[in-house]
Amino acid sequence: MLLFGGILFYLNDMTLISRLSNVLQQIRQAEADFNRPSGTVQLLAVSKTKPASAIALAYQAGQRHFGENYCQEALAKQQQLGAYAICWHFIGPIQSNKTKLIAQHFDWVHSVENIKIAKRLSEQRPDHLPPLNLCLQVNISDETSKSGMALGELDEVCRQVLQLPRIKLRGVMAIPAPEQDFARQRLPYRRLYDAVQQMGEGALDTFSFGMSGDLQAAIAEGSTLVRIGTAIFGSR
Ligand SMILES: *Cc1c(COP(=O)(O)O)cnc(C)c1O
Repeated sequence: MLLFGGILFYLNDMTLISRLSNVLQQIRQAEADFNRPSGTVQLLAVSKTKPASAIALAYQAGQRHFGENYCQEALAKQQQLGAYAICWHFIGPIQSNKTKLIAQHFDWVHSVENIKIAKRLSEQRPDHLPPLNLCLQVNISDETSKSGMALGELDEVCRQVLQLPRIKLRGVMAIPAPEQDFARQRLPYRRLYDAVQQMGEGALDTFSFGMSGDLQAAIAEGSTLVRIGTAIFGSR
């Protein structure tokens, strides 16, 4: 029984490691296919709902950037993984009463929807830490249920966030409505990418575009960071 359990764990571990390497290979392939310089798209492994042991395994295979959606869950895993040099990204919806914990315990935040949350994060970022890396979440699917600011607000919010002393504005994040068709997957990313280029904001270097279901389309349209959960850690 013990041996049987041991073999099962071993197989699960192998699966995670081969999925991770598979995703990295898909990223490199998409870079080549869409004329993106090799290595310009970074992998963020989204570990929400998965145990610290799964993160440890991916870490041992070389992965360093991990994304979490829920504050308490992330803090518990950070405690268990204190010895690992992990770069932690917060990618979930942000309630005002969570900004302090996010400012204290993360290196990046991708899901900032308005200037009020950005200001709180700046005020609450501890002095002994470097400025918090921040992406503004933009709603590019025009669905009232989806979170993120309207594209028309982006320029003004960027200008204000650039004034915040404890924030380093890095770019934009988007979660388009799910879409099967490759050409249609590309459209919202292109719209946002073009809008950011037109703003002429040279400080922005991050396009947090793409998940398990649309990473090729996102890379085709300028993604510099894909947020991948299911394709690495399995379904949730
Ligand atoms: C869960 C999540 C992901 C990962 O989604 P997968 O489809 O599992 O790859 C990426 N980004 C955000 C904001 C998420 O909440």
